[in-house]
Formats: sequence, structure tokens, C-alpha cells
Amino acid sequence: MRKQLWVDPRLCEGHALCLESAPEVFDLSDDDVAECVRQPTDELWEQATAAIDACPRGAISLIDDPKGQPVP
Ligand code: SF4
Repeated sequence: MRKQLWVDPRLCEGHALCLESAPEVFDLSDDDVAECVRQPTDELWEQATAAIDACPRGAISLIDDPKGQPVP
């Protein structure tokens, strides 16, 4: 199963650096918490992993299932 991106709302501080790295994948909610609005296509995975690296809070994880636990 392909991993999926997940943003932990408890960690996100709304810096929006993930949006700069992957604007087609992330957006900010009205509460200034990032959301993954689209699971990346093959072409967007490079941007998505750049967003993971760019997040100063480590709030973006790859998970097996959106309701599951983050993969270490
Ligand atoms: S870079 Fe990290 S902390 Fe900032 S908005 Fe994105 S997920 Fe949230």
C-alpha cells in the first residue's frame, strides 16, 4: 500500500513552508493549520518529500492509513 501524507494538527504552527514546497498538495485551513488537500501523484512526490523536510515542526508524516499511526 502506498503511504499517504498526514499533517498532525497538534504540531502544525501554520508556517506555510510546506505550501511553498508543494503548493498543489498542501493548503492552510481557516485555523492556519496545514492540510493535505491532495495525495501526491508520482510527479508530485518529490515536492511532497521536500515539504516534509522543510517543516520546522516535523508535523508532516507518511502513514499507511489516514486513520492509522504515523510510520516511524
Ligand atoms: S511547514 Fe509544518 S508547521 Fe508549517 S504549515 Fe506546513 S505542516 Fe504546518
